[in-house]
Amino acid sequence: MNIPQSNLPRIVIIGGGFAGINLVKSLANKNVQVVLIDKRNYHTFQPLLYQVSSSGLEPDSIAYPLRKIIKKHNTTFFRLTEVEQILPEKKEIITSIGHLTYDYLVLATGTKTNYFGNKAIQSSSMPMKTVPQALDIRSLILQNFEKAAIADSKSEREAFLNFVIVGAGPTGVELAGAIAELKNNILPRDYHDLDPDDMHIHLLEGAGRVLPPMSEHASKKATQFLNKLGVKIHCNTFVKHYDGTTVTTNSELKLESETLIWAAGVTGAPVQGLNADALIEGANRYNVNQFNQVEGYPNIFAVGDIALMASEAYPKGHPQVAQPAIQQGNLLGKNLLRLIDNKPLKPFVYKDKGSMATIGRNKAVVDLKHYKFGGFFAWFIWMFVHLMSLVGFRNRVIVLFNWTYNYINFDKAARLIIRPFKK
Ligand SMILES: Cc1cc2nc3c(=O)[nH]c(=O)nc-3n(C[C@H](O)[C@H](O)[C@H](O)COP(=O)(O)OP(=O)(O)OC[C@H]3O[C@@H](n4cnc5c(N)ncnc54)[C@H](O)[C@@H]3O)c2cc1C
Repeated sequence: MNIPQSNLPRIVIIGGGFAGINLVKSLANKNVQVVLIDKRNYHTFQPLLYQVSSSGLEPDSIAYPLRKIIKKHNTTFFRLTEVEQILPEKKEIITSIGHLTYDYLVLATGTKTNYFGNKAIQSSSMPMKTVPQALDIRSLILQNFEKAAIADSKSEREAFLNFVIVGAGPTGVELAGAIAELKNNILPRDYHDLDPDDMHIHLLEGAGRVLPPMSEHASKKATQFLNKLGVKIHCNTFVKHYDGTTVTTNSELKLESETLIWAAGVTGAPVQGLNADALIEGANRYNVNQFNQVEGYPNIFAVGDIALMASEAYPKGHPQVAQPAIQQGNLLGKNLLRLIDNKPLKPFVYKDKGSMATIGRNKAVVDLKHYKFGGFFAWFIWMFVHLMSLVGFRNRVIVLFNWTYNYINFDKAARLIIRPFKK
């Protein structure tokens, strides 16, 4: 892999997500050699993927080159490849471009979409975990509008204009709100030949309310906002089958739709090679102690979504959101340096900064520890937090410009079918 040999301990990090990049930053220009590996050459800001899917943002404004993050790190290297296997007894990893030995290995591989074993849904639905997938959804929505405009019958037209989103967590709720805005603001202006009343957005949720991970207050507010936007909410509803045109559920609800967006959950994306004890079955996450050390492997660590650190406060592990990944990445950097210096390690304690979700323009819900609120102020906070969390000044400026432009003009300017999606 052409990584120079040196006297410095080598730390290999797999994954340039929130956990990986914060770890890399905390090891910058220290007495260690760092090798960051990712199968993509950019970091993805996943919280705004739904805005790419719904034509609100260009894809490159939520992605950031990993090499740019490490450009001033003298002892850090980046390799673009997928890690296929770990050989812990040889302290080595196997990738698609060769083998590499390590002194310390950090797994920051995040998650992948969970279809709960349903092959039909996996092959016919649209996931939204990566930039290419978000672009596919954008193309499909716009292609469906075009097909609806030339459909022969009302039922055929409605199938193109029926959008089914499965999973009413923050991702599903945010996407439903954004697609409803396409219906309310874009369709009447751009598609004179289509009746917006023929377009329906269905949000399906297995739990009894929307936003199950958030408070009752947030859920109630979000329901009100979604109803106002015209989104049809179906709680206690599980999708049983989807063949590309018909959505069958556990209830009597059956929907004809050319688009089923799967936002119903994720599962860990581990790498092969560690003992069964290292992985928590079901969750597919590495079993780590309070220092993020993987069970049974003193020199292998896992951080972020892929790590499950059971504690009294979080018996099932931390929520799979950005903050635990960022905080674990930061602390692990410091702990690895302590480990190399034979100093005691500091245990990880999660500082919960709250959670939030936005539902169309001017509306959001925010859950803080002692204060829960929704509406315009929440929306403002949501925008500020997301803008400041984006990686790169250029991306922040572009996103701010797009949001301001879209807000003033009721527009979503990235309505382009650059790469048509083939079902
Ligand atoms: C649509 C969506 C919306 C979200 N919205 C929010 C939100 O609003 N707020 C929030 O806090 N969280 C949100 N999340 C969750 C948040 O994005 C994750 O918790 C966070 O990204 C986890 O960081 P991570 O570093 O553990 O993993 P990731 O950010 O997923 O990064 C993993 C990296 O590992 C790489 N990788 C994986 N396997 C390999 C391999 N074998 N070889 C090489 N590279 C590999 C991947 O390419 C990727 O770059 C959202 C997630 C999604 C999908």
